[in-house]
Amino acid sequence: MDNVEATTKVIERMAAAMEENRKYLTKLDSEIGDGDHGNNMRRGFAAALERLGDTRPSSPADVLKAVAMALIGKVGGAAGPLYGTAFLRASTALSNADVGPQDAAGALEAALGGVKQRGKAEVGDKTILDALTPAVEAAKEAATADGATVAAVFRAAAEAAEKGAESTVPLTARKGRASYLGARAEGHRDPGATSTHLLLDAAARALEGAG
Ligand code: ADP
Ligand code: MG
Repeated sequence: MDNVEATTKVIERMAAAMEENRKYLTKLDSEIGDGDHGNNMRRGFAAALERLGDTRPSSPADVLKAVAMALIGKVGGAAGPLYGTAFLRASTALSNADVGPQDAAGALEAALGGVKQRGKAEVGDKTILDALTPAVEAAKEAATADGATVAAVFRAAAEAAEKGAESTVPLTARKGRASYLGARAEGHRDPGATSTHLLLDAAARALEGAG
């Protein structure tokens, strides 16, 4: 499988995960937001697949750029521009047509930089960053291990993101709609941190060949 095909498979698996988890993400967002996160993510990734079908990308960077444009163009709310920026930065970071473990970790780090710059949140604010920040740390470490693979980098990132998403439960939100709730957001898992975990898990599965 070449790299364009592998990257496309990752996006297809992400789109499927957003479809499968639409109700779950919407439920989480209805507890501490406005209940649209599941629909936003599903719509964005459906648009990404459509765009990929229309554009025939010629490199992994092109695939990620098409996804970024779809997310920025089709998803309103906070998450569309944040994830769109993440994919755009990841695309820019991937200069090699041949993506190795270090490239993958570098792309994730660039994505994190984009979310930080755009959203101006910090770890502990109950956002995407609570999952993505530890994910990038884990990805960088996995990329330097003996026999590192791109699949192992994403698996490590996904596991760290899951713990990170879980860590948002007791937090008060300091960014986004949930911040209007004050202490009432405590006891609820952040939808965006949860979708970050689901997307990284989907990437790992696609690369592990688990479909
Ligand atoms: P909206 O809040 O506009 O309805 P979504 O429901 O799609 O948009 O996305 C909500 C998620 O966006 C939150 O759960 C949170 O994780 C994430 N989020 C909101 N603001 C920020 C921010 N400044 N930085 C990072 N993530 C954020
Ligand atoms: Mg919402």
